Amino acid sequence: MNSMNAAVVHSFTDDLVVEELPIPAPGPFEALVKVQFSGVCHTDLHAAHGDWPVKPTLPFVPGHEGVGTVVEIGDQVTRLAVGDTVGNAWLWSACGECEYCQTGWETLCPDQVNGGYSVNGSFGTHMLVDSRYAPIIPEHVDLSAVGPILCAGVTVYKGLKVTDTQPGQWVLISGIGGLGHIAVQYAVAMGRRVVAIDVDDSKLELAEQHGAEVTVNAATVDNPAAEILERTGGGVHGALVTAVNAHAFPQAVASLRRGGTVSLVGLPPEEFPLDIFTTVLFGLTIRGSIVGTRKDMAEALDFYVRGLIHPTYTVRTLPEINDIFTEMGKGDINGRVVLDLN
Ligand SMILES: [Zn+2]
Ligand SMILES: [Zn+2]
Repeated sequence: MNSMNAAVVHSFTDDLVVEELPIPAPGPFEALVKVQFSGVCHTDLHAAHGDWPVKPTLPFVPGHEGVGTVVEIGDQVTRLAVGDTVGNAWLWSACGECEYCQTGWETLCPDQVNGGYSVNGSFGTHMLVDSRYAPIIPEHVDLSAVGPILCAGVTVYKGLKVTDTQPGQWVLISGIGGLGHIAVQYAVAMGRRVVAIDVDDSKLELAEQHGAEVTVNAATVDNPAAEILERTGGGVHGALVTAVNAHAFPQAVASLRRGGTVSLVGLPPEEFPLDIFTTVLFGLTIRGSIVGTRKDMAEALDFYVRGLIHPTYTVRTLPEINDIFTEMGKGDINGRVVLDLN
């Protein structure tokens, strides 16, 4: 059998087409993986619509939360063997030589290759991975649930790390969707005290179930930031903004304690105003954070393996991909969707 099934983007305005493609042969450092499950990320929708300034080359197969089994390895592969369980990720590979790669910031490498974007991804029965970058999935984990860790999990874990908060300190998780509900769990597992903010009570209930001590509904509370300052005795030490609503950004900044840091991982298309006076006088830090390095990935997976992270997800099939994208575009998806490619 030399062909595989995949969901292919042929144009940024039409539906994806599920079709047969030749199974690719692994080049140097690459491994061919029989995909079992793949999470569906909001970034895949942006990729399929060509929403971002640097667009993928058509046609392409999206997906960067795939997990499966190595079935063939290319030349010079030493880190993986046939039979290993591995994933692909947004950080599919990097140059390994630039100043960012040299200093452990391969996520900032200008020559990085992105899974399901600049190289075919995991919305298919087979995919290639770079053996030097592919996350190795530990044994005895539920492969249907691990996909969301490979993007959502590592993104929020790294985003929380760069809030520079300590155990026992408050962090605000803004937006309790696909990223945020996982962020609450990482924050709790990392010993942070969690404030969750959203506009939907059912999402705030989910945050509470995962250990959030304070929840604030931004749609019904008059001044959410004032409420947070009061209930945390002066504000949160750090904030992670996963929301794709531009109002969430100034709200998170206003909820910070003096000296606090807000870390941004959501990508709304708007800009947001920053009150320079407060930022300067209160010594605030505002920073962006993009996915995580290979080391961050291994750590994020470790929390999952220890049973500390439980993504909310539903399992669906590849032919449903266009329906899934439509629902995602409308914000109708609770947690994550995982494609079963078995
Ligand atoms: Zn993603
Ligand atoms: Zn580099």
